[in-house]
Amino acid sequence: RNSNFLINRSDLQLGDVIGHGEFGDVHCGIYKSKKVAVKMLKNGMASDLLNEAKVMIDLRHPHLVELLGVVLDDSREVYMFTEFMANGNLVDYLRSRGRHHVERTQLIRFSLDVAEGMAYMERQHVVHRDLAARNILLDENFVAKISDFGLAQLIAQPVNESVRGKFPIKWTAPEALRQSIFTSKSDCWSFGILLWEIFSFGRIPYPRIPIQDVIRHIESGYRMEPPEGCPLQISHLMTDTWSLQPSDRPTFAEIVNKLKRFSGY
Ligand code: ADP
Repeated sequence: RNSNFLINRSDLQLGDVIGHGEFGDVHCGIYKSKKVAVKMLKNGMASDLLNEAKVMIDLRHPHLVELLGVVLDDSREVYMFTEFMANGNLVDYLRSRGRHHVERTQLIRFSLDVAEGMAYMERQHVVHRDLAARNILLDENFVAKISDFGLAQLIAQPVNESVRGKFPIKWTAPEALRQSIFTSKSDCWSFGILLWEIFSFGRIPYPRIPIQDVIRHIESGYRMEPPEGCPLQISHLMTDTWSLQPSDRPTFAEIVNKLKRFSGY
């Protein structure tokens, strides 16, 4: 199946820059007359980009951004392209619209979209490890999809050296920060932070706490207040995702059920 993803450079038309990623610029492009997003490579990052592609090849779900192809051309350039997500990333969207322009039902819809994508990942035994609103993209119909599988890996694999220490502290579960234990339960913790981002319209988590102090606060029991106007059911869910004990946190399957019951979808 992998070979189907290897595309000739000449089949991919490159357009303007639409974003800046860790690996390098993201361009729009056209492949088989379809609009796509192309991630290009900064020097020396080939293995990370290829890891991301390798993880994505086997994942397919309406709430995961779909990998369409990889180009490995003669001049050793590497591109990876995915479906084009016309409305960009969720955090920029929430910040630019703000609380007067995005309805609560839409916020719940975003949360459920992400939870459904994560429930699929949980069933596939893949851990994302970098779940955050900046890594959720919106398509032309504002359907939310999970992106950025650069740190994702099968659960069974140990954390490799190249990704150690790259984790976004404010989104990462304590046992993942302290002991590198990454599971769907550590993704669950990150999902709670993502919920907080959604219902605060894109604020940075723990606004008054310096990064280096976050873990100490968490371990002594501090948790963020629910954002202003956050529905009670959502703040309860946040609290559940932030249990210190990973086994006390809900599964994504349970989170999906709760959000469905709450929203009436
Ligand atoms: P990295 O993983 O290297 O940090 P990202 O995947 O986060 O890069 O991409 C950086 C930015 O490029 C995103 O925040 C988004 O604005 C834009 N972008 C990335 N992928 C797409 C896509 N499929 N469709 C539209 N825009 C995208």
